[in-house]
Amino acid sequence: MVLQKQAAFVAGRWIAVGDRPSIVVDNPCDGSELGRVPSLGRAAVREAIEAAVVAQASWRHVTAKERSAVLRHWFSLIMAQRDALAALLTAEQGKPIGEALAEIDYAAAYVEWFAEQAKRVEGDIPASHRSDRRILVLKQPVGVVAAITPWNFPAAMVTRKLAPALAAGCAVVLKPAPQTPFSALALAYLAEQAGLPPGLLSVLTGPAEEIGWELTSHPQIRKLTFTGSTATGRSLIAATAGTVKRLSLELGGNAPFIVFEDADIDAAVDGAIESKFRNAGQTCVCPNRLLVHDMVHDAFVERLVRRVAAFVVGPGREGPDIGPLIDQHAIAKVEAHVADALSRGARLMCGGSGSLLGANYFEPTILCDVTADMLVAREETFGPVAAIMRFASDEDAIALANDTEAGLASYFYTRDMDRLFRIGEALDFGMVGVNSGAISTEVAPFGGIKQSGFGREGSRHGIEDYLDIKYLCVGPA
Ligand code: ADP
Repeated sequence: MVLQKQAAFVAGRWIAVGDRPSIVVDNPCDGSELGRVPSLGRAAVREAIEAAVVAQASWRHVTAKERSAVLRHWFSLIMAQRDALAALLTAEQGKPIGEALAEIDYAAAYVEWFAEQAKRVEGDIPASHRSDRRILVLKQPVGVVAAITPWNFPAAMVTRKLAPALAAGCAVVLKPAPQTPFSALALAYLAEQAGLPPGLLSVLTGPAEEIGWELTSHPQIRKLTFTGSTATGRSLIAATAGTVKRLSLELGGNAPFIVFEDADIDAAVDGAIESKFRNAGQTCVCPNRLLVHDMVHDAFVERLVRRVAAFVVGPGREGPDIGPLIDQHAIAKVEAHVADALSRGARLMCGGSGSLLGANYFEPTILCDVTADMLVAREETFGPVAAIMRFASDEDAIALANDTEAGLASYFYTRDMDRLFRIGEALDFGMVGVNSGAISTEVAPFGGIKQSGFGREGSRHGIEDYLDIKYLCVGPA
């Protein structure tokens, strides 16, 4: 497959051999080897950063319209390779092919969007504090950006960092997740084809700690953008303290999905399925806790179980409802959460165990009578497990929903428009889906509050994360 680069992209060159034995990338559906990428060390990271510094010094002076044109070209190349990119994504990540195609569209949409936003960076001239002074507020690119991305969206998490950074006039050194480097490398290859100047983008493969150490401590990296676990996010905050970097962090969630007694139950079931079981539950905006009002609890559960029990599980390329999980760590976490819940009194409505299909598969699972002390309610399960809790009043629902250190996504279903603002404002989360299980789009600001991090991706706000504000105070000449 021509798009599958078994090489890292360093300072404008493709490097197939690293300092150490290569990293093997497996297909999660059967553990077979998909290919290898080099294991690079510190010297390659420094080389990438130095090239990025040089390339960015020119790129920041390229007109916004020209930067926009390169991104636009990149977008059209991604769309032209949509099928091949989706097949590669499913091969390395496992998700059903339909979801992979949707992810490529979503990933490309960020490139298209920020190609447009590149031209809309605006400063301002506020009324001056003195009649002989003028204040000019400028927005300038932050410089060289380090980006670290996870395996659950191997294409979209890459473009939603790279596109705004490049649009703003920054350079990027990217470290994709070791489980899914090929999508990132294919996107970099297409960016190169689109005319991105050499050195402006590097994609490094190798040990996370070593590459991470260099990226977080290097003084010429001005900003780190990261999507991943809260634990790694905390360690990156500490690691960047020494060089005071700007940060955008999109960390773990623990999303509540609230079904009020007046909700359209069929719509709520559709929304729960769409948001809970997408990517086999491996997204940071997946509902982790389904909170259902006592009055509609049994009807909701019965309809959900009927639908979920009929899911087809299988290899992503065959277009099932649910593919494999990414690896054995993911399976171990899901198993531990289910076992903990059952030992504390939860009821198993369907699923609950692994599958004969292979080691990385887990049957879609529904648990009822879940309580706030169980691991499924306290931690992000990141798997195909719907954990259902009950509530009796709006106050209960809000208290239960907000009882988490995470603050990324939340959802509620109601037909009472009075609740729209009351509940919407009371939920301590960066994103709220109201009668909608799908909330991710390049036109909206994606991001969290509390320990889910800070910074926004997408929308007109997304480019601001890559711009510094400077003002000139101008007196008479
Ligand atoms: P997960 O446990 O789901 O893999 P992580 O937060 O560990 O989530 O991984 C997200 C990304 O962060 C991956 O690209 C991973 O390689 C990277 N990563 C993990 N640890 C470090 C680290 N110490 N420094 C830099 N990057 C890291």
